[in-house]
Amino acid sequence: MRFSDEFLSELRERNEIVDVISSYVDLRVRGANATGLCPFHNEKTPSFTVYVNTQSYYCFGCGSGGDVISFIKNIENLHYSEAVQMLAERSGLPMPADGFDDGVAKMKRRMLDANREAAKFYHSYMMSPEGKTGLDYFLGRGLSPETIRQFGLGYAPDRWDSLVRYLRKKGYTDSELLSADLAYKTKNGGIIDKFRNKAMFPIIDVKGSVIAFGGRALDDSKPKYVNTSDTLVYKKSYNVFALNLAKRGTDRTLILCEGYMDVIAYHQAGFTSAVAGLGTAFTKEQAKLISKYADEVILSYDNDEAGQKAARKAIDILATTPLRIKVARLQGGKDPDEIIKKYGKDKMQQILLSAVGDVEFDLQRAKQGFDLQTSDGKVAYLGQAVEILSKLSNPIQWDVYASKLASELSVSKEAIVTQIEKKAKQKRSREIKDNFAKAATFNDDALGKVNPERQRNLFAAKAEETLIASLLHNPDFYFKIKDKIYEEDFATALNLRIFKLIARNLDENRPVGVTYFFQDLTDEEAGYLVRLESMRDRLGNTVKECLDCINRMKEEKQERENKNPARMSDDEWAKQFRKLSE
Ligand SMILES: [Zn+2]
Repeated sequence: MRFSDEFLSELRERNEIVDVISSYVDLRVRGANATGLCPFHNEKTPSFTVYVNTQSYYCFGCGSGGDVISFIKNIENLHYSEAVQMLAERSGLPMPADGFDDGVAKMKRRMLDANREAAKFYHSYMMSPEGKTGLDYFLGRGLSPETIRQFGLGYAPDRWDSLVRYLRKKGYTDSELLSADLAYKTKNGGIIDKFRNKAMFPIIDVKGSVIAFGGRALDDSKPKYVNTSDTLVYKKSYNVFALNLAKRGTDRTLILCEGYMDVIAYHQAGFTSAVAGLGTAFTKEQAKLISKYADEVILSYDNDEAGQKAARKAIDILATTPLRIKVARLQGGKDPDEIIKKYGKDKMQQILLSAVGDVEFDLQRAKQGFDLQTSDGKVAYLGQAVEILSKLSNPIQWDVYASKLASELSVSKEAIVTQIEKKAKQKRSREIKDNFAKAATFNDDALGKVNPERQRNLFAAKAEETLIASLLHNPDFYFKIKDKIYEEDFATALNLRIFKLIARNLDENRPVGVTYFFQDLTDEEAGYLVRLESMRDRLGNTVKECLDCINRMKEEKQERENKNPARMSDDEWAKQFRKLSE
């Protein structure tokens, strides 16, 4: 829906951007701007910048950018109008009376209802005589009927369209079933169940809604797992399995597992704080979600090379949150299920209690490769250990681990600390260098990605960009230059479109900027525009500068035309022709 400029201005004013972003990102104020670690991509040094003057943000690492509304839209994974509503509520601004478009909200509700019905269908089918195959699968894996009920497990029939027919009868439309990814369209246009002959794990969010399903093949057929794709109500990288049950625990510690069955085995054995990612590598968004409900997380990944590698990756991601990280060493079995079955829950409890910190985990992994009886082995292990410890930012930690290593390998502690310091210093200077290199080259890369014509017309594009940036900061200049510039002076379609948006708003006496172009720009284009706007320091901010840009654009245009008229595209030819006949 369309919001008025007045409403959007008021919304922007009431939701100061640094204030809003601060509750998601740790910002450090630097002059007129604030910087922090980008919440939209994984990084260790801050390239995310918030501009107080223009109330906008831009990330030099991934190119995302926009205003306070875009930020909320992207970080909360909402639709534009939902983000507006959230900010309106946050700041006590009533939504415009001419109606908030709740079509999306309605659709989401229908999808969640359909999912709930589907979960009930799969469960009761499994409990019926016909569904015995499914029930036998879960019982065979050692699950009790109580556990099966608690997790709402089920069985999807080995037929083409049982669920589709069932839900149609309940009044759901085909388009609702397709949007919820419960069914899909075949080549000849029929609609069939997405899950067939699968053991079903409903995925339930913290509010208790069934948002998706994981389906597992009962035998060795491939693929082993079929999962709901991302839908309007489900984004797998943003959700965590069983958090709805685990969040009830009071000790603020969660056990993070690799798969559904690990989680269920833990819960059945009384460890009710187990959760799991959803079939992909663990993500930053999942880490953030977990950190809302816990202070500590114990990783319980499989005891094989693949599991340990996945654990290492998860540690890096978890390290971007305030969570304390520990790693359980699953000795005596490959996964928690096997250990509990073989040795019982007391042994499992012991393993969890003796989980080690992330640094210890890395050191132990490094140690495995070396023979510490030999001097060569010792030296090589020390080299790796120093590498690991140099990533820590806290010198007290250096000291603690250096002491341990010193007594373990009978070498001098001071020597180890000196090595770590040296390594850490090298790392820091390399990081700073990398960042400079990125800042110098990345701008153009990022802009070129959004505006593909830029690279081919670099000089013209730079002139266009300077003109646009200047007009954003000095809207009154527009009236002094508008008679001197024509559409065909532009070399890149995107810059022309942006210029026309600016012209449209100013001609109608309206404000300019991403906030007021929300209907006309994609997320990437909004980021691009903020990037241009942020070049303020490089601008002369004079009318003459704008005129220079226009002249440069005209020169470049001349050049393009002279260069090779024979190769003119049909479009360009048509443009030329229009001009001649005007
Ligand atoms: Zn970023």
